[in-house]
Amino acid sequence: MRQLRFRDSDGDVRLGELADDEVTAFPKQASDLDSTATFAREDVETLPPCRPSKVVCVGRNYADHAEEMDSDVPDRPLFFLKPPNAVASDGDDLTLPSGKDRLDYEAEIAVVIGAQASDLDESEAMAHVAGFTCMNDISNRDDQRAEQNWIRGKAFDDSAPLGPVLATPDEVPADARLRCRVNGELRQDATREQFIFSIPELLADITRYVTLEPGDVLSTGTPEGVGRLEDGDRVEIELEGVGTLSNTVTIP
Ligand code: MN
Repeated sequence: MRQLRFRDSDGDVRLGELADDEVTAFPKQASDLDSTATFAREDVETLPPCRPSKVVCVGRNYADHAEEMDSDVPDRPLFFLKPPNAVASDGDDLTLPSGKDRLDYEAEIAVVIGAQASDLDESEAMAHVAGFTCMNDISNRDDQRAEQNWIRGKAFDDSAPLGPVLATPDEVPADARLRCRVNGELRQDATREQFIFSIPELLADITRYVTLEPGDVLSTGTPEGVGRLEDGDRVEIELEGVGTLSNTVTIP
């Protein structure tokens, strides 16, 4: 199932199943089955598919990206955080920091947590996953290179667009392709079969230290092909089974 979170014409925030550009909303209350309604996708406002209390990101989880960044392949996962202010939605125009030389896109497969997760074994990790979405880990290289903790470099407003839907794990097989296009030109193309650390390995490691809540996001790193964004660019992150996260960027 592909689940869309959206605002309906009454201004209510709702969840529904997306199929063929039509959204069948879940009832507003479980006791109120009559409130189910169908909307054309174009008639609703798409919202981020979840409301994370934190986005846990993984650095260098593809060997080819580590190489293009002149970095070593890590011997354990590298983690950093993005806070809720970073989250944006499919379709949003993203306003990025001004005065920087390098603001980069990074196409990533994002894992959405479905059940509170603490100190997981690898064998139980996937049972805590609600599904997948797309993330663009937009990165301010100027400040990322200059600071130890990547607040300016990674945690700025609009640096974590997510969406368009939450797809359940059955919709996104291991060979589902992750692609990035800028102004229609293909820049990145990979699958999670190329990960250095698997999703269970990542979840087992991070939950030794950090409890993940339902709706939290683990963004699993970017493959080779990262590059610069310019004012007015249109950037699309596509994951087979999820769809396409599309944003324009404004760099004041
Ligand atoms: Mn990244």
